[in-house]
Amino acid sequence: MKVTRIAYSMGLNPGKYAALVEQARRLGQVRSEVWQRCGSIGGVGSGLRDRQVRDRWLADGKHVRFCVLANAWKETVRDAMADIAANLEAAKVEVRWAVLRRTSDPVERKRMFTALKTDRWASDPFLARQLRKHWKRGHNRTHDQIVVRADNYNAVVDGRGRLWLTVPGLERRKMVRIPLSTTVTPTGTLRLILRGGRVEVHYQIDASRMRSSQRPCGEATIGVDKGYTEALTDSDGQPHGVHLGELLTAESDRLKERNRRRAKLRSIANNAAQRGNHAKAQRIKANNLGTVKRDRQAARHRARVRTEVFTAVHEVVDKAATVIAEDLTRTFAGRKKLGKNINRRLAAWTKGATAEALKSVSERRGSALVPVNAAYTSQTCHRCGRFGGRSGDRFYCTSCGVVWQADVNAAINILQRAGDPDIALHTPHQRVKQILQDRTDRHRTRLPVQDSSAATAERRANHPNHSALSKK
Ligand SMILES: [Zn+2]
Repeated sequence: MKVTRIAYSMGLNPGKYAALVEQARRLGQVRSEVWQRCGSIGGVGSGLRDRQVRDRWLADGKHVRFCVLANAWKETVRDAMADIAANLEAAKVEVRWAVLRRTSDPVERKRMFTALKTDRWASDPFLARQLRKHWKRGHNRTHDQIVVRADNYNAVVDGRGRLWLTVPGLERRKMVRIPLSTTVTPTGTLRLILRGGRVEVHYQIDASRMRSSQRPCGEATIGVDKGYTEALTDSDGQPHGVHLGELLTAESDRLKERNRRRAKLRSIANNAAQRGNHAKAQRIKANNLGTVKRDRQAARHRARVRTEVFTAVHEVVDKAATVIAEDLTRTFAGRKKLGKNINRRLAAWTKGATAEALKSVSERRGSALVPVNAAYTSQTCHRCGRFGGRSGDRFYCTSCGVVWQADVNAAINILQRAGDPDIALHTPHQRVKQILQDRTDRHRTRLPVQDSSAATAERRANHPNHSALSKK
């Protein structure tokens, strides 16, 4: 398991920065070219590999046009092809769901999954059609990155204890020396990202080299529910990451206010431009509507949320050898358009960060992460299994006559899902609802219920309130 580390440049001279920006811009053209050629069904789909693209460009002399050093564009081709492959993998997730919906025959499913995995889907009309549908033609949007191979840079500590990273420039033997804010030497392949006058040096290290890998996990089996006010609530009733709600609310309020002000400034600039005062419009654009500070603040907010979330996950893993959580691979394939709603966007990003934290902390500390189908876990009572109602952070079960703390109730339900014989990870949510209803009805009549629609009608007749349930 690899984890990404980032080193930052400190006090980098603007001339050097500009030279790196120019190099990244030219390499961005290389990326665009790769996406243009290979970012579709015909490209990677036909099994084209980065080495073949390189050889082809070397043969027809295309590489000369980019005006960058050979190692730089070759690494960029490799990196862009890896991006395209990742893009394809994301589309495959969608196609797998389509396969599950299409057939219930295990042999047929297996055949299609294998064809997808080994990239032999082109000959299957259904798979090819689905991939075309879900694999939107991608475009390169990366114009600010330089990938440097491990043997193409060096790092030296100077007399004053400062670490200097030396990377290739635009011309042979004209290296660029970047002062770093850390004394830890980056290793392996580097990704330099140029943002706001500063160079971010991204590199990967082995998680086993990290200190936290020596902190062992606990022994219990614990279910967790992901939330907004707290990052996680566990099935023991304990909340973790309790400052998450404040962080998100504060950020949401700040963004709303700032976006309102930016919109006002933008309209002033537009009006000025319409009246012919282009100098004023330009001034506002340059001085008041920039992105450097905005992006930096966004990055800082994300770092704070990550810290809160990782701390929460570590607390859970302190107790647990097995963590049971909602499966999030499905909800984060970009299925839902979140639009401009700031709250939902922040919440979605946070949920993704929580999923990532659960995965990486579990791997590092040796606990098992068990994903379960979380459908209706926040709407049913963990004691009797019946549907109940939500009111704020409370869950009330009319059948037991008990009010639970909603997140704790959900976490216990999630814990129980791990041992559920009928509800598998990919059971559709309508089916889950049916199973849950059948169980409680069977419980009441002490008889196995065969006709489910009759059972539903009976249930509705007996409990008119139950049809008015809040959706999760
Ligand atoms: Zn109950």
